[in-house]
Amino acid sequence: MITREELRELSQFRFNENENCAVSFYFQPVPPRNKAHREESILAKDLVKSALRQVAADGNNHCAKADLERILSLAEQLHGGQTRAKAVFAYGRKNFWREFDLPTDLPGTQLYVNRRFHLKPLAALFSEYPKLWVALADRQNARVLELEFGETRQQLSITNPMPRHGRSDGFGGYDAGHTQRHKEDEVRKHFRELAEFLKNGAQRRQFDAIVFGCNDVNWPDLQAQLHPDVAKKRLGQFSGEITAMSDDRAAGEALRVAQGTLRKHHYSLLGETLDEARANGRGVTGLRRVLRAMEQGEVDTLLMSQDYSARAVECTNCRHLDSHVVRYCPVCGRATRQLEDVCEALVPIAVRNSLGLVLLPRDETLDKIGNIAALLRFRADRNMNQLRAAG
Ligand SMILES: [Zn+2]
Repeated sequence: MITREELRELSQFRFNENENCAVSFYFQPVPPRNKAHREESILAKDLVKSALRQVAADGNNHCAKADLERILSLAEQLHGGQTRAKAVFAYGRKNFWREFDLPTDLPGTQLYVNRRFHLKPLAALFSEYPKLWVALADRQNARVLELEFGETRQQLSITNPMPRHGRSDGFGGYDAGHTQRHKEDEVRKHFRELAEFLKNGAQRRQFDAIVFGCNDVNWPDLQAQLHPDVAKKRLGQFSGEITAMSDDRAAGEALRVAQGTLRKHHYSLLGETLDEARANGRGVTGLRRVLRAMEQGEVDTLLMSQDYSARAVECTNCRHLDSHVVRYCPVCGRATRQLEDVCEALVPIAVRNSLGLVLLPRDETLDKIGNIAALLRFRADRNMNQLRAAG
């Protein structure tokens, strides 16, 4: 499976952008019950063969020929019944070749020979598999797991043993209530320590969504300690004795909760973005304003319809992106180049900056706002006092 670090490497790769040598190949198998899966591998081979013919005819991307031949021999081994999708990114100029297995959620089998790697199909994966943390807690222990495309990593493990109270605590049962209160304080401190760790994680964008696992009786005390930035990312919780629960079991429970609530969570993010945009707050809609917010470093989460695509230009010098197809960059005056689809540039920027990426099925609401919007972390054009007054 691919990790976010590997994705970041792809999004930061340095190309010679005057030639089309970057090859991106996506293979999406079809479900086993569908009899057409042989056709999928035939389609893959046809795609590569036709790209090879184009390369032979076009002097500018001859550099991709060897990579395409290697992908053709790989496509010959694919049979379409695989349980994993596949992606290959190759750049022969620098002897770069990476193969990844992916969850089978790609939009389809595709091949691109371009100036840089085509990462847009991965946007769908980002959306369906957000960076997920699982916070497990009882009154003395806490664990935080990170789930990424089927892999589980432990981020935190703490134990705050409850103080023991013997007779030395007081005399004549000095105050049983005092002991009880003291225990409650210790538990609150324990939950606060976990909540602090989660708050820092949320503010550093280490996760997009979170699921909690704890005993139902403890949930209100834990919930009371959560920072709003963490509470907003909560997809739900499951109940259980967490000390006895293996990481794998907890991951399974968390994914089940996430699958059931992710779509609802996405719509609540969209709702929040639209409300904020209407109030001139932390939300913008439409490509022009989204691009501006991206350049200002304001964006937290990018939201778009699943089939979003738009023409734009990119400055060859300063990389400014503009929704108006102009020949010269409005920022630095140098020549621009046309992008068939602005996502070609937007998705790598989102990956590099660890932005949230949410894709939603197209509907009337999305059509009205140009099918793209962004939830902001802050607005650079407003001073803090205004923000405080508004908040
Ligand atoms: Zn420029």
